[in-house]
Amino acid sequence: MSLASVLLITGGGRGIGAATALEAARRGYAVAVNYRRNAAAAEQVVTEIRLAGGQAVAVAADVAVEAEVVALFEQVDRTLGPLTALVNNAGILETQMRLESLDAARIQRILATNVTGTLLCCREAARRMSTRHGGKGGAIVNVSSVAARTGSPGEYVDYAASKGAVDTLTMGLAQELAGEGIRVNAVRPGFIYTDMHADGGEPGRVDRVKAFVPMQRGGQPEEVARAILWLLSDESSYTTGSFIDVAGGR
Ligand code: NAP
Repeated sequence: MSLASVLLITGGGRGIGAATALEAARRGYAVAVNYRRNAAAAEQVVTEIRLAGGQAVAVAADVAVEAEVVALFEQVDRTLGPLTALVNNAGILETQMRLESLDAARIQRILATNVTGTLLCCREAARRMSTRHGGKGGAIVNVSSVAARTGSPGEYVDYAASKGAVDTLTMGLAQELAGEGIRVNAVRPGFIYTDMHADGGEPGRVDRVKAFVPMQRGGQPEEVARAILWLLSDESSYTTGSFIDVAGGR
């Protein structure tokens, strides 16, 4: 990691984002913890970082709303200084159902956060980090999903399709920004113990499906965080447009 590394994590208040924020702070990053609604969770992450001697701020913004994304990055500029790293972690799914029951409003909500939000945050990061715009370079890690490969049949093909888009934009931006000092990579988590499965209507989902995982267990958010941090770090300096599956062999 270079000196004065400033990392923005979208959806950093809970789950994989929170684990990434805490581990990043331990490794010396100043961390901006973005959240949408749960201010208490984000503030708790920030407090834990500060108590350990690190630097962090919590910033509310819905990544699906362009003006809020612009304001989010401006607030990071003001409070932590020039951005050097971005983790596009904010992501949503909704209740498990088959295609026949999906409506356009739901599909739009999923795509707005998972795809539009990721693209908008990449844009703001590139405007700051690209050497083309006078920046010093940096790294972006997108949080995709094994669902991009499996398609999540019978559960949420809309969510899976949004993660397919995340994979595609990761490949495109990695090449678009490679000559401008910015590496763009992604992680594809499998079944990870977080609140997200409750949003799908099945809080105990990981324990139900873990028998289908070659390693016979679900993953912990910290196990995803460590892959993200490797991709952000100089340890992966020649790696761009790459994917790390953190999925127990699935
Ligand atoms: P989680 O525990 O449900 O946390 C999601 C986080 O995203 C929360 O902090 C939430 O903010 C934030 N968020 C949601 N929509 C947002 C928006 N529009 N703007 C800003 N923040 C928003 O989820 P998780 O399981 O850690 O998932 C993190 C990422 O990993 C997601 O992209 C997900 O698709 C991916 N993933 C998860 C799994 C898994 O098994 N858990 C597997 C594969 C991929 P609030 O706290 O304010 O609500």
